Parts: sequence; structure tokens; C-alpha cells
Amino acid sequence: EKYVYNFNEGKKEMKELLGGKGANLAEMTKIALPVPSGFTLTTESCNRFFVEDQVIWTGLEMEINDHLKELEQSTGKKFSDMENPLLLSVRSGAAHSMPGMMDTVLNLGLNDHSVIGLAKATSNERFAYDSYRRFIQMFSDVVMEIPKIHFESILEEAKRKQGVALDKELDGNDLKEIVKKYKEVYLQETGEDFPQEPMVQLILAIKAVFASWNNPRAVFYREMHGISKLNGTAVNVQAMVFGNKGESSGTGVAFTRNPGNGEKKLFGEFLLNAQGEDVVAGVRTPNELAELKDLMPKVYQQLEIAAKNLESHYKDMQDIEFTIENGELFLLQTRNGKRTAHAAITIAVDLHEEGKITKEEALLRIDPQQLNQLLHPNFDEKAAAQATVLAKGLAASPGAASGRIYFTAEAVEAAYEKGIKSILVRQETSPEDISGMVKSEGILTARGGMTSHAAVVARGMGKCCIAGCTEMKVNEEEKIVKYKGGVLSEGDVISLDGTTGTVYLGEIEKSKPTLGGKFTKLMEWIDETKTMAVRANADTPEDAKQALEFYAEGIGLIRTEHMFFKEGRISSFRRMILAETVEERAKALNEILPMQKNDFYQIYEVMGELPVTIRLLDPPLHEFMPVKEEEIRQLAETMSLSLEELNGRINELHEVNPMLGHRGVRLGITYPEISRMQVRAIMEAALEHKSDKNSDIQPEIMIPLISDVKELSYIKAEIEDEIQKVFIEKGKSLAYHIGTMIEVPRAALTADKIAEEADFFSFGTNDLTQMGFGFSRDDSGGFISEYMNKNIFENGPFDTIDQEGIGQLVEMAVERGRITKPNFKIGICGEHGGDPASIEFFQRLGINYVSCSPFRVPIARLAAAQAAI
Ligand code: PEP
Ligand code: MG
Repeated sequence: EKYVYNFNEGKKEMKELLGGKGANLAEMTKIALPVPSGFTLTTESCNRFFVEDQVIWTGLEMEINDHLKELEQSTGKKFSDMENPLLLSVRSGAAHSMPGMMDTVLNLGLNDHSVIGLAKATSNERFAYDSYRRFIQMFSDVVMEIPKIHFESILEEAKRKQGVALDKELDGNDLKEIVKKYKEVYLQETGEDFPQEPMVQLILAIKAVFASWNNPRAVFYREMHGISKLNGTAVNVQAMVFGNKGESSGTGVAFTRNPGNGEKKLFGEFLLNAQGEDVVAGVRTPNELAELKDLMPKVYQQLEIAAKNLESHYKDMQDIEFTIENGELFLLQTRNGKRTAHAAITIAVDLHEEGKITKEEALLRIDPQQLNQLLHPNFDEKAAAQATVLAKGLAASPGAASGRIYFTAEAVEAAYEKGIKSILVRQETSPEDISGMVKSEGILTARGGMTSHAAVVARGMGKCCIAGCTEMKVNEEEKIVKYKGGVLSEGDVISLDGTTGTVYLGEIEKSKPTLGGKFTKLMEWIDETKTMAVRANADTPEDAKQALEFYAEGIGLIRTEHMFFKEGRISSFRRMILAETVEERAKALNEILPMQKNDFYQIYEVMGELPVTIRLLDPPLHEFMPVKEEEIRQLAETMSLSLEELNGRINELHEVNPMLGHRGVRLGITYPEISRMQVRAIMEAALEHKSDKNSDIQPEIMIPLISDVKELSYIKAEIEDEIQKVFIEKGKSLAYHIGTMIEVPRAALTADKIAEEADFFSFGTNDLTQMGFGFSRDDSGGFISEYMNKNIFENGPFDTIDQEGIGQLVEMAVERGRITKPNFKIGICGEHGGDPASIEFFQRLGINYVSCSPFRVPIARLAAAQAAI
């Protein structure tokens, strides 16, 4: 069996086997771009490594050996050579890019011999010993896990002794001394000499890369992103090129388009006289790529051409790592670049308009969940203009965030547990910080560029981030930040504008986002592609307006009970509930009627002729009762009851298991007058709107919690009688529809019968999940997370529809409903209506529309379009 592939044996389609990095290195080699030679150990070899108790078996070692020989031949260099030694980089690379794994060891192969060879080959002793000391430090850190601080303090000490400030001011002799001390540290910490044999170094490094696949950070990352079905990581072994050979060498990162806003222009950064990781690790703040044009015009032009090539080859924006060695350009990596939602839309739309991808491909390029970023607010311009600016950094990831500052991931997590919003402030971030980054509102780092760890990870998460804010001096030890004019301490509140890079003092008011341009175009394409409609769940005219701004095609659910909580209404409603006689109840209902009618009228105003589904009262009545003593006393007064009498009536409403109790249609059956009042309000408002605006409104009235067709027949007779009364009184009529929710399992099972009485179905997947699993919607959060930890559930069943179980109920009800009425209109109005994975499932079942909260409408629209492709 073959476990090692030369770069010229692979191609980009072999990601699963060679990992993303390996497959792309092979592809770049294939299309004759300047890539240093090397080979890749497959993900299957990582898998076997774990099966074989983490040892490198003889067969693999022999394969590695063969490839090394080949590499020596193709480069004309030799391991341990005292003239022109072969040095290697060793990098991990899974099929998905995955921060948290061991990343890179550079300069592998250096030892007491080859360092002399390197010095000769480059006529630069300083460079050789600097490389050697970097190698010892990196190897010790990532392979042997020796704390960095040992090495850093030796370096600091040397600089102090020489009276210099920068690493690069140390000379060859200083560095020789440092190498000696580093090796002593290694011996002290491991009990062994620093390995001199390159093959031993290589095997140790490979083992460390393999092992890092299962370190806690990598496992956490895979869990967070739901990556479960991968073999392991591949390992890429590649001949070194040097970006730190002097001022005509350098290293950098280039994006073929701007990852922040999508602009079609080479974008990136570089550092002269530096080695690969210096840019990404954010230790020095790099220069803008445009400056390279003046410094090395030929190299810049080559890079531009390579970028163009790669982009047309991959048909997507590329993130390229490059190194310049003595004026010669080498490409070390390419991958589809991470980008903000704004950039994702711009790039997808542009690529289609440039004729590079189809409209469908463009739609599939954008992650629906990522749209969330766009829909979130920015700082209110006026408020921001008046706020105190503390500093400016790099606008690394857009958005707006305010919170208290904390200096460690742990402190952020602790604050989060207490419900405190926080900003993670660090010198620079590393993969250890990811769990804290997730739980912060935003991230601020003093060092690092646009491609530093903090910037890349934050953009992926859609989290606001300012990086390289060098004006701020972060002292993590003392938990303070110094800025021009003052000091901040842990717990102080600041605000970050990730779109401009500005740091403000205190909290700033936020304003709604504006969408336009390419977003509008995207929405047009979505309309041309999707077959399912997307409506919104909205209870107020304001919600309805928001939903329309996000291109909702109607309202799929008005939860009318929410209207009763408005100022001044709740008291009438309570009196209605607590009434003991029909007259008392009628009086209270008469007070409520005009208010409900007005609500509906206003919503019709906003929605025009788009469909609007109004659900009759649903929750158990006890939910509306006052809890505070003061309110109970007031209510007793208005009802001329004693406190005891009122408390007695409230207690009668109490149910042990209210969600399975007296709610939904059951209320309408006991108190038909409530349902009658609601449909009267619905129809009177519609008639008025029709005559005022000459509109063709067709209200959709929806009955909740049906479990038997006879319930529906009963309530339908009641409300149709009331509707006829309204028509006669007003001398006018209009078309309307009466449908039902399917949210009780028994309703799903008897859907063919229920369909006989209904004009439409809408699945209440929240209740259907609650009742299908027997999990309380309100109480199950705690133990469901335990189910996820223990891998009993992959997803929360209230977030993503359980296709295997609850999904069957939906499927069955759709089928049975359509046996009775083949063209039956069927929708979804539970939370699952805004979840992309669920939407894909609903599309397969032939559902006509989904309805979700306004802020999820664009996400659901894109998911619906993708599901239709
Ligand atoms: C549902 O049960 O899915 C539903 C939409 O209704 P509610 O969430 O109001 O119970
Ligand atoms: Mg429900």
C-alpha cells in the first residue's frame, strides 16, 4: 500500500487523501508554478498511526526514505551536507483547514554539520546560526512541548548583554552562543541531546504532526464546526526556501481579491528578510503588498500573474503563501481564501459576471449562516462621532462590538457564564484562545496583521476584530492597556468598529445595517432559482417591515397572543380570562376587539397583498396572569374582587403540565367567544383595508394544536358563523382561508382526515419536536447539551429537524394531506424554518414555504435556493 506521494503525483481532487494543503501543492506543481519540491504523507497514514499505537511502522519509514533520496536528487542538495545541505519544512494539513493542529516546523535538517554547510552555501554565517536557533526553538516547542519562555529569556539576556534592542542586531557569534544555550535547555528538559540525525528529527516531527490531530484544541475545533468524518491529517515535507536571506528575500501572504470587501485587486502583506511564520504569527507588523511593487517590480508582476492563473484555475478567490529567496519567487501554498460575508457576496456575484462561474455556482459559494454577519448592526454614526477614540488598528473583521475587556480566554469564558459581554484583548492570539474568542463580542490585538491568527479566525466566525493596534500597549500580566492619554484595566468597557479599525471608550449605540448593491443582485438570483417561498414570523408592524426589508414573501405566523401584552391591553385581557359569566367576558372582549383590529389593519398596511397567516390564541391562560403582588392587587381592584377571590381564580388556572394542557384549539372549544372576537377583528380589518386601499387581501386564519379533525370542524363552524355575521353587518365580503397547524403527532398521523376540513397546513415543528420526543421545549436545554457531549445527538433537535424521527411525521402528513387534496398548500412555521439543513430536507418533501424570524429570512432564502439547485 502507498502512503507517501510526491507532489508531482497528486492533484487538487485528492483532498481527502492528501489533505487540502497537499492536494493544492500537487496541483500547483502540475500547472508548473514555482513550488519547491516535496512529498505528502497521506491522511490514511495518520489513521494507521493511531491504529498502530502511535508508532511509525517500518514500511512507512522505508517509503519516507525513498522519497528523501528522490528529493536529494531533484534539489541537488544532501542532508547533513557541509557544502549545500537539504533543509525541510514539515507541515500538517487535513482535508479541511483546521487551526489548532500542530502547524509547521521549519529548517528541519539543521545540525552541527549542516549549519556550517548553510553558512558556506549562503556566505552568511549569521543567517545560518539564526536559522539553527529558530529550528531548535520551534522543534522544542511544537515537537517536544518545551515552554517557549526558556528560549525567549536566553534571547532577551543575549540582547541585554550586547546592549541591543532587536533580534536582528545580534551577530553570528552571539547566535552561536545562543544555539549552545538552546541545546542545553533541550538536554535539561528532555534528558537527551538535541537530535543531530535529520532522519530522527524528521520522524519525531512527523509523529508530532500526527499526534496533534487529537490534541484538545483540534478536537474542539472539529466539534465546533461539526467535522466528524475525517481520517486524520496529512503531513507535507518540502524543501526549504529562505525568505530570511537578506533584504532581497522575504515572505508574505496574497489574496487574489480583498477578503474584507471583495474588491478585485491583489491584496496582502509581506515582510522582508523574514521567514514564513513571522507574518502569520503577527510578531512583526507587516507591510502592505502594494509596496512590493516598488521594491521588487519583477517579483510583484510574477506574483500577479501566478495569482491570476490560480484564480482562473480554482475559479475562486485564493489565499496564497509565498516566499522570495534572493529575488526568486516561490509559492508555498494556495487555498480558497476565507472572507467576510460582504466579500463572499461581492466575489460570487463578480465571478459570475466575469463569466467564470454559473449563477448556481455563485449561489452555492456563499454560506447561508455567514449572511448573519451582514444583517447585524453597525455603530450609530452620530453616536460614534461623539464617542472618545482611544486608538486605531487594522480593520481585520467587520462588525461592531462593545463589552468589558478581559485579557485571557478563561476570563472571557467566566464573564460569559455570568452573562457579561466582553472584548478579548491580547498581545496576539493563538489557537489556545479559540474557545474565548467564540464567547467574546469582539477581539482586539496589539500585534499582528490582516492575516494574523486573530484576524483569520475572527473573519471565519463573523466576529468583529481589530488587529495590529500598535498604539495600544497591552500588558497581559498586569491586566492593563496603555494608550495615548490613559490606561484601561480589566472590566473597563470599550467598543470596537471592525469595519474601520477604530477603538472607542465606553459603549456605543448601534444602528441597523444597510443592504444594497450586490446583496440586491444576490436576492434577485435567489428568486430566480428557488422554488420554495420564504415568509417571516412577525407579530408587529415593525417586525413585518423588517421582514420585508429582508425580502420576506409574506407572513407565515402571527402569534396573536403577543399583541395582548402591549401597554394598556393586558388588563382587559386578564379580565376576559378571569370572567365568570358570559356577560363579563363579552364586555372585556369588546374592549379588546378594536385594538386587535387595529393591529391587523396596520400589518395589512405593511404587507399589502402578500399572504398573511394569523394564528388564533395559543398559550395556556395561566401565562397571562400577573405574578407581582402589586399587579394582583391592582387587578383585584379593577375587577371589584377581594385579593383572596382573585388569587383563588388565578390558582384555578394553574396546570401541572401546561404545555400539554388547556391551550391552542382547546381554548377555542371551551371559549368560542375568544375565537369569534379574533376572527371578527381579522375580517373587519381586512374589509376596511380592502375598501380603503382597494386591495385584494385574503386572510389566512390558522388554528393551533389540532389533534383530531372533529376539533377543527367544531371551531370552523363557530368562526365561519362569525365571519358570515361580519359580512352581513358590513354588506361586503372577501375571500379567506382557514387552515391548521400540524404540531401534535396525532394530527400528523391523521392528516388525510384533517385535510378534508383545512385549506392549508403549517407545521409547528417546535411543538411537533416537543411532543414527538417528549422533550419540554422550555426545560430540555440543559440535558440536550449533555446528549450532544455524549454523542447521543449530533444536533439539537430544536435547532435542526430530526429527519429520522420527527421528519417522518412531517413526511407522512405531507403525503396523507395531499392524498386528500393534491395541490394542498403546506408550510413550516417552527424555528426549523430558518435552519439551512432543515430547509434542504423540507425542499425534498415538496413543502411550499418556510417561515422564520425576520433576521433569518435572507439565510433561509439562500438555503432554499441552494436546496433547489
Ligand atoms: C411551533 O410549535 O412550531 C410553533 C410555530 O408554534 P409556537 O412556537 O408558538 O408553539
Ligand atoms: Mg406550537
